Amino acid sequence: MSAAPHGAAQSGPALTELSDDALLRLVEQLGGKPFQGRQVLHWLWKHGVDDVEQMRNVPAKLREALRPHRLRAAEVREAELAQDGTEKLLVGLADGDAVECVIIPDGERTTLCISTQVGCPVGCVFCASGLGGVRRNLTAGEIAEQVLLAKARLPDDRRLTNLVVMGMGEPMLNLDALLPALARIHDADGIGMGARRITVSTSGYPRQMERFAKADESYNLAVSLHAADDELRKQLVPTATHPVREIVAAAHRYFGLKGREVTYEVVLLKGVNDRPSHAETMIQTLRGLPCTVNLIPWNPVDEIRRERGLERPLEAHVDLFAEALRCGGLKVTVRRQRGADRSAACGQLRLRRQPGA
Ligand code: SAH
Ligand code: SF4
Repeated sequence: MSAAPHGAAQSGPALTELSDDALLRLVEQLGGKPFQGRQVLHWLWKHGVDDVEQMRNVPAKLREALRPHRLRAAEVREAELAQDGTEKLLVGLADGDAVECVIIPDGERTTLCISTQVGCPVGCVFCASGLGGVRRNLTAGEIAEQVLLAKARLPDDRRLTNLVVMGMGEPMLNLDALLPALARIHDADGIGMGARRITVSTSGYPRQMERFAKADESYNLAVSLHAADDELRKQLVPTATHPVREIVAAAHRYFGLKGREVTYEVVLLKGVNDRPSHAETMIQTLRGLPCTVNLIPWNPVDEIRRERGLERPLEAHVDLFAEALRCGGLKVTVRRQRGADRSAACGQLRLRRQPGA
């Protein structure tokens, strides 16, 4: 399959990578009127067309002038459907790189998980996305386009209800692209998804969380805590330089500004951070804060298991951990494993296809 989506001969940024202003300017340069520029934007983002000929109310002359331009910056290179309906997409980018996104149907809900970087610079010890470091940031167009690609795969009776920015990469380290991408996804003239249905997960960057809090919209924030003890957290998130108390304080300020309860994610690893003492430290750190703790039993990644000896926690220990937190006054959820038969943890499909990437 071609590495350059929708026409290898076409160069320059794809139309989806242009800001509204830049696209309106381009249409004007090509002889179109401003309202026709807005029609093109609608076709791109609201209707999600991937061929200029589908822009029915755009005059033939303007369609002709637009044809040398790539519409999209990404394409689905590969799709894997798990037995539970979870579908993992390997999204190919114009430069040959790839990221993952995952469609997760669950009753009435359909959640999409999208990526923000090719790889990840944070290097959490349990995560496949961080294994080869980061190659580059995604552009705003590449981030938002994952939603278009996923929507096009849904059956007619399903619509995307939720979006989680929990795929490859650290969203707070690519805010310049993430914020316009989310605005596009949220905008009623764009994809039109409510901010309440959008959750961004971070491994904890207080300064960037402050900037995220200044966005016009109130998205949900999830913070990957993993351990409330600084020493242990550093072992799990080796590049984390911020103390837990600073991360929790930034998350609490986010709640103060936006009125959205923060979720703390805790990936549980057997014998590493799943003991009652770890639950106790977490209670001391989070008690009294309006939040929910989401416990995520580790999805094993073969390479990491072999090389680092990490293991999925025993179910009984996950239950005990959850119970301890509840007794300590915290709200707790435990994440079910999804897409288990198909490299469920993010970064694994890419890892298999591009070893060493
Ligand atoms: N970089 C951001 C968002 C992407 S990771 C962050 O770390 O929050 C999204 C979530 O998936 C994080 O909570 C992360 O800890 C978790 N995760 C990563 N690899 C995992 C694995 N193999 N099993 C279970 N959860 C994993
Ligand atoms: Fe990066 Fe998140 Fe994976 Fe850590 S868990 S390496 S921050 S993607």
